[in-house]
This record gives sequence, structure tokens and C-alpha cells, in this order.
Amino acid sequence: RVILGLESSCDDTAAAVIRGTPGAAVILSSVVAGQADLHAPFGGVVPEIAARAHAEKLDGCVAQALAEAGLTLDRIDAVAVTAGPGLIGGVLSGVMCAKGIAAGAGLPLIGVNHLAGHALTPRLTDGADYPYLMLLVSGGHCQFLIVSGPDDFRRLGGTIDDAPGEAFDKTARLLALPQPGGPSVEAEAALGDPGRFPFPRPLLDRPGCDLSFSGLKTALLRTRDAVMQDGRLKRSDRVDLCAGFQAAVTEVLAEKTRRAIAEYLVSEPETPLLAVAGGVAANRPIRAALERVAQENGLAFLAPPLRLCTDNAAMIAYAGLERMAAGAVDDMTLVARPRWPLDRAAAPMIGSGK
Ligand code: ATP
Ligand code: FE
Repeated sequence: RVILGLESSCDDTAAAVIRGTPGAAVILSSVVAGQADLHAPFGGVVPEIAARAHAEKLDGCVAQALAEAGLTLDRIDAVAVTAGPGLIGGVLSGVMCAKGIAAGAGLPLIGVNHLAGHALTPRLTDGADYPYLMLLVSGGHCQFLIVSGPDDFRRLGGTIDDAPGEAFDKTARLLALPQPGGPSVEAEAALGDPGRFPFPRPLLDRPGCDLSFSGLKTALLRTRDAVMQDGRLKRSDRVDLCAGFQAAVTEVLAEKTRRAIAEYLVSEPETPLLAVAGGVAANRPIRAALERVAQENGLAFLAPPLRLCTDNAAMIAYAGLERMAAGAVDDMTLVARPRWPLDRAAAPMIGSGK
């Protein structure tokens, strides 16, 4: 099967074409058009600007994805699109574009949960077998999931406030580093001393695998103000602040992952696997720490290549492929959902609700 995927839930407009079957798919093309330049003057993503930019860029991304795959629409078997969660204007732009393509070309339409796209990425990149333990760690989310099927996610725990990606972005803003914050903070942290500023490790004293990151930014702000002189921050202080912040995030993620692994292993999976996905999984020290935790516990470890950690449409096309293979196809009644939890217990309805 050949699937065209569309993604527009945040500030990346993306289109991709994949071919294959569940657990054995190849990416024929994956086009991502960022909008960082449009939002840069505002210090964060402006939803209205994002929605308009998606509407403008989607057609071009689709055309480019088809061209790079060397295919025309008549060779496509279905259109998959992110139907939520995310900024509603952007999601609507994508859903309307996908409906137009599906109606025009007479193709099945498949609504995909953006988080399922991230969570199924190890199946796309490495054909990972179910059930695996997924740490989904991104700009808006942080959760441990046992993934047992394309629509079978059990949430073990997650952040009770901010997502780590958001904390990286806020840290960058507080330290006058460019957005998105993750890569810029990671680069600065590599030059700093992680031990100089001991930032809090929230919730480590509590059982379970819930996490918290909001206290970290308050601590960072206070420490920054304490070391600033005449409103100026020295480079050496900035790299140490970044290193201390990143070390705290890394340690919390690593320890909570140990606890999630213990819960996951209760079900005695045949080939235990820890996989990570989402933008923060692009962070090299965090990946390395999680890989060590996996090894210590006898689990295999998978982290997608960096371009498949952050938002892309290949993961959406792949999640669509899995849903289609499971017989879950939508129609023109597909709606955009700003909120859409993955866990079945929290979200009994999928796609258009059928
Ligand atoms: P969600 O998937 O939760 O809806 P999103 O789609 O905005 O949110 P992603 O695109 O998966 O999130 O990830 C973007 C986030 O990842 C940003 O917050 C960014 O700062 C962070 N990020 C990207 N690269 C790195 C890195 N190297 N280190 C840490 N964080 C990073
Ligand atoms: Fe995402």
C-alpha cells in the first residue's frame, strides 16, 4: 500500500509518502516546511499565523512529496492526516486539505492522532514488535505508554504540568537563546558544567512514573537572576545554567523510565523494548541516558533518527497505514480535535467516532 500523509498540528507543515505494510514500510519522501521564521518575532508559535501558513504551504508540500516519491495521485491508496491533538486552526487546515485530495482523487481518508504518529515511529523505522514501552517526550507531551497495537495504548504515567520540550523552549527564552529551545540549549549545555547549579529533581521522591517540569523553570529564573550582573548574563554562566537544567531533565526522565520499565516488565514481553519518540528524543545526552537505563534492565533500545523525532508526516502516513490495515477508515465526517488523549480508557472514541 502507498499512503500520503499530511501533518499540520503545530508549526511544521509536512507531507510524506510511504509504502509497505505494518511493521515493514519504507519512506518514499518526507517534506517538512518549518515556520520558525514567521513566529520568531513573537517568541512563540502564534496560532493564527500558523493556521494561515499551513493553508498556504500544504499544497506545495504535497506536490513536492509526490514529486520526490516519483508518484502521481493515482498511485496513492489512501490519504492520512493528523486530526488532532494540536492547534485547532492548523489541524483544520490539514483535515480540509486531506478531504479535498481524498474527494478529488476518490481515495479513502484516515484521521490520525498526532501522538499515535510519534508513538508508532519505532514500527516505521525499525519494525519494532508490539508490545513495547514508549517514552513520548515532545513539545506538548511527556508520557509513558505500553504500545500494544495501532490503537492500543496504555498510559503508565506522565507529566502533571509542563512538557520537557516546553521547558527547553522556556529556558531558551529566559536565556535569550533562539527557538526552538531544545537544540540551542543542548548546544550550550555541551560547553557547561552540569554540577554548578543543582536544580531540583521534582517528584523523584514519589512512587510511580508521573513527572513534573514546571518547578524547573522557576528555579532557572531565580538562579539566572542571582548570577546576572547589571542585567547581563555572562556566557560562562549561561552554559552552566543550560548544563544544569539539562542534567536535571535527564536525571528525572531516566529515573522515571526505570519505574516505567518495572511496570512494563510485569507483563513479561517476549522481546522487551524501550523506544523514545517526540522532539526531545532528539537530545543526545537524554538519548544516551535512556539507552543506559534500557541496557541496565535488559531491554533493547530504539530512538528514531533526529528528523523523525520532531514533527513529520511520514509518521502520520505510517499510523494511517496501520489504521487502514486494521480496517479503521474515516469519511468526510472526520472532525479536527484540539484535544485527543491516546489512552483508550481516557478516549473510547477514535477517528470520526465510529
Ligand atoms: P506534541 O507532539 O506534543 O504535540 P510538538 O509536535 O510541538 O508537540 P515535537 O515537534 O515533537 O513537539 O517536538 C518539538 C519540541 O522538541 C520543542 O519543544 C523543541 O524544543 C524540542 N526539541 C527539539 N530538539 C531538541 C533537543 N535536541 N533537545 C531537547 N529538546 C528538543
Ligand atoms: Fe509532535
